[in-house]
Amino acid sequence: MPKVMLVTGGSRGIGAAVAKLAARRGYAVGINYRTHSDAADAVVAEIQQAGGTALAIQADVSQEDDVLHMFRTLDERLGRIDALVNNAGILETQMRLDQMEADRLLRVLSTNVIGAFLCAREAVRRMSTRHGGVGGAIVNVSSAAARLGSPNEYVDYAASKGALDTMTIGLSKEVAPEGIRVNGVRPGTIYTDMHASGGEPGRVDRLKSVIPLRRGGSVEEVAGAVMWLFSEEAGYTSGSFIDVSGGS
Ligand code: NAD
Repeated sequence: MPKVMLVTGGSRGIGAAVAKLAARRGYAVGINYRTHSDAADAVVAEIQQAGGTALAIQADVSQEDDVLHMFRTLDERLGRIDALVNNAGILETQMRLDQMEADRLLRVLSTNVIGAFLCAREAVRRMSTRHGGVGGAIVNVSSAAARLGSPNEYVDYAASKGALDTMTIGLSKEVAPEGIRVNGVRPGTIYTDMHASGGEPGRVDRLKSVIPLRRGGSVEEVAGAVMWLFSEEAGYTSGSFIDVSGGS
């Protein structure tokens, strides 16, 4: 039986790249999407055409009922989860703090932190040797913003990723004795649609000059780091972060 991975927000960007790479490495992949079923179906089709196994599952990860339903679907259709990638995340329009409505922070936290919390909880309930599971691993897709703070742009987003990193550290210690490793990847400026939806399509190119490697990153470069954290070579790595941020 292939190992089972769930990738949240897996229909495009970094999530889609992780899903495709995981399928090539033999995982049966659950591809979570919130709204774009056509995009999720296209990722599933690409994986299946290459001989892999994938399933699109709709859920808004910030909604507990959706998350419970998603994990039940994964159990029934692909089997018990071995690997979770908490990738779904949102970034709102660039803005200084003094212009931000409080609701904006609540929205960002709902997906970036509560969503990751709910999915991690459901994964742990299935992976943990305390619950009859066989262990597993979780990778949280954080951001370089957690370290850098994103002043003048997205301090709300940076704060959400800081919270995610702290949860990664705490959870890694909590579940290590139960056979589960928990790590994070912190992408820097990556070419995806996120910046377009965050209000500045040309952001990656604007920032090139301040990135030590002088370019934006690719989704494949992030996916490679994520997959290393699931590999046997990473068997003694937990509570750690890989910065995929061009030296920033
Ligand atoms: P993206 O916008 O292309 O993809 C994010 C995906 O998450 C989308 O498919 C979106 O529909 C989904 N999503 C959002 N809210 C959701 C919800 N509540 N439930 C389910 N799905 C939801 O962005 P991306 O650049 O591929 O980002 C992926 C992750 O990488 C995010 O967590 C993001 O914060 C992080 N990241 C991205 C960059 C970058 O430069 N692109 C940098 C640092 C971190």
